[in-house]
Amino acid sequence: MSNPKGDPGLCAACAHARTVNSARGATFVFCGLSRTDGRFAKYPRLPVLACVGFESAAPSPRGTQGHQR
Ligand code: SF4
Repeated sequence: MSNPKGDPGLCAACAHARTVNSARGATFVFCGLSRTDGRFAKYPRLPVLACVGFESAAPSPRGTQGHQR
């Protein structure tokens, strides 16, 4: 069955997700990890409720200095 409410689940908050709107008004999520990792579907079936590749798109409240060089 499809996802009538369009809730993408985890993908909504994932740094690897790109929202794609079709000409028909449907919304898909493109998973950026699919480019480099075959375990991930290009357009995952939504909602995604569990995903090993999930990475929060929101900055972490702690440890935000970890990526500076
Ligand atoms: S890694 Fe998982 S949660 Fe993130 S966009 Fe891809 S499928 Fe969605």
